[in-house]
Amino acid sequence: MVTSLNEDNESVTVEWIENGDTKGKEIDLESIFALNPDVAPDEEIAPSPETPPPPTPTCVKVNKIAKVSARRKSNCVKEVEKLQEKRERRRLQQQELREKRAQEVDTTIPNYEIMYMIRDFRASLDYRPLTTADLIEEHRICVCVRKRPLNKKELSVKDLDVITIPSKDVVMVHEPKQKVDLTRYLENQTFRFDYAFDDSTTNEMVYRFTARPLVETIFERGMATCFAYGQTGSGKTHTMGGDFSGKNQDCSKGIYALAARDVFLMLKKPSYKKLDLQVYATFFEIYSGKVFDLLNRKAKLRVLEDGKQQVQVVGLQEKEVKCTEDVLKLIEVGNSCRTSGQTSANAHSSRSHAVFQIILRRKGKMHGKFSLIDLAGNERGADTSSADRQTRLEGAEINKSLLALKECIRALGRNKPHTPFRASKLTQVLRDSFIGENSRTCMIATISPGMTSCENTLNTLRYANRVKELTVDPNQVMEGGRPNIHAVNQLDLLDEEWLSISPQRDDLKLLCEQNEEEVSPQLFTFHEAVSQLVEMEEQVLEDHRAVFQESIRWLEDEKVLLEMTEEVDYDVESYATQLEQILDQKIEILTELRDKVKSFRSALQEEEQASKQINPKRPRAL
Ligand code: ADP
Ligand code: MG
Repeated sequence: MVTSLNEDNESVTVEWIENGDTKGKEIDLESIFALNPDVAPDEEIAPSPETPPPPTPTCVKVNKIAKVSARRKSNCVKEVEKLQEKRERRRLQQQELREKRAQEVDTTIPNYEIMYMIRDFRASLDYRPLTTADLIEEHRICVCVRKRPLNKKELSVKDLDVITIPSKDVVMVHEPKQKVDLTRYLENQTFRFDYAFDDSTTNEMVYRFTARPLVETIFERGMATCFAYGQTGSGKTHTMGGDFSGKNQDCSKGIYALAARDVFLMLKKPSYKKLDLQVYATFFEIYSGKVFDLLNRKAKLRVLEDGKQQVQVVGLQEKEVKCTEDVLKLIEVGNSCRTSGQTSANAHSSRSHAVFQIILRRKGKMHGKFSLIDLAGNERGADTSSADRQTRLEGAEINKSLLALKECIRALGRNKPHTPFRASKLTQVLRDSFIGENSRTCMIATISPGMTSCENTLNTLRYANRVKELTVDPNQVMEGGRPNIHAVNQLDLLDEEWLSISPQRDDLKLLCEQNEEEVSPQLFTFHEAVSQLVEMEEQVLEDHRAVFQESIRWLEDEKVLLEMTEEVDYDVESYATQLEQILDQKIEILTELRDKVKSFRSALQEEEQASKQINPKRPRAL
């Protein structure tokens, strides 16, 4: 709006409202006319005095401007014409530029319209990224997201960055969509987490807000877990293990090492120093429901549960560490063991979970434990309908373990009496971290920025969202009326009875019921078949080993028996009796093993059948 006319320098003062504030400036008349040719005095004569006064104040002013300018019309008109010419030229130039640019992008960027839409959208945003000055909040369950930069491969195919992180806790996904008439548009989805780290965030910064607050937990006799969750190639290992450049990994920059560094720093604090704590580390891998020790040449380990429900990984090497360098060495040993014989680090790690633990002990007794987990690629959970059994079983285990992990964390958040930890090996070995008052967890969902990863990224964000969305502060639960203690106890008892029949299967059932949306009945049947298969495989192997040991003894006994027959006057009666005994025993044991192998083989067939029944739409990647 024009608010005043300054006749001395032939200008006007204009005011406008921007973001609620009134702003103003002075503009010379020539520019006004150039911008608004309709108000410019295009005739030599000023408007007639009989013209009725225009209705709005702006027009009054404009009218007055016209009158003033009429006094020096000739000069002014020339100027205006020049300006108009200039403007016209500029307009043409711009149009040419636009056309040229459109041609350029058209041929080189596959999704240029989308790119411009995202660019425009971003230009309208107010950016307030996380800074070191931001408060580090105390969360029992912390869920955050980290976006990595576009990598060389994505840049080379001109993939678009469809993720925007405008503030410290918001992630936006610009999903390209198409209308029926084929016009393309963006669907912008917004997610909120405890923290959102953009692609310029360093590991140190991610660590500062995620794992670092958990170091204190283990000194305070608690259990801490930190998970990297996401699609293969989204930055899990980069975050947890450190930067891989070329073949070498600088593990000193990963969360494993940063946490270890702070553990040793904390140890020096007077209040903790007097506790005389020892630090140990373990590093193992869970692949297809089996545990392998990365600090002991990938020895396969058994997971057992004792009468008090304590889960034990039998024979897991716990190495004492005295300083950060010791830890770095262990990580290197473990990493090279993990990927040895692999063509690519990702080929194997996409299918297995890696667990690195820092354990504090006081006079041998567990004081606290920090488990840092680089999870298998979540897209592999969709492999359950593959034609290849190995791939199917891997996929099933990943699908199941990621579902179980989500439920265990949610149960932790709600102090639920029953945690379905038995549904997977991963949650089983981490059981003690999901129970207890003093357990805290953090999940870092890593995402790839590219448009080609959009679907997987959305799945990752939805999963991360569900981990926390239903988390209710226990104090709030109490406000809504005290829970019925009696009912809870009864449930507990019921659970125990029920679980003693087949705990794995029942936890699995619970899990599938809690995730009906993702787990179709067919998928549940398939999971059951797989669980049975895995249990049977363990049984068959164990029995086979026992029979093998027994056979060695039989051989010795038979040797003695045969030697006896070399004697001139050996006891035929005794020989026959003993041989019969040995043979009976052999037949009995071998028959039993053969029957087990038979049922194992039919379980293999069942699994194959069940895998073919899975609705191809489900499951989507978790
Ligand atoms: P994942 O373990 O999830 O499969 P990686 O951690 O191996 O993925 O990351 C894939 C690639 O992207 C690696 O080359 C890694 O160096 C790179 N990368 C991941 N995150 C980042 C990041 N925040 N900054 C720079 N490069 C990254
Ligand atoms: Mg990895």
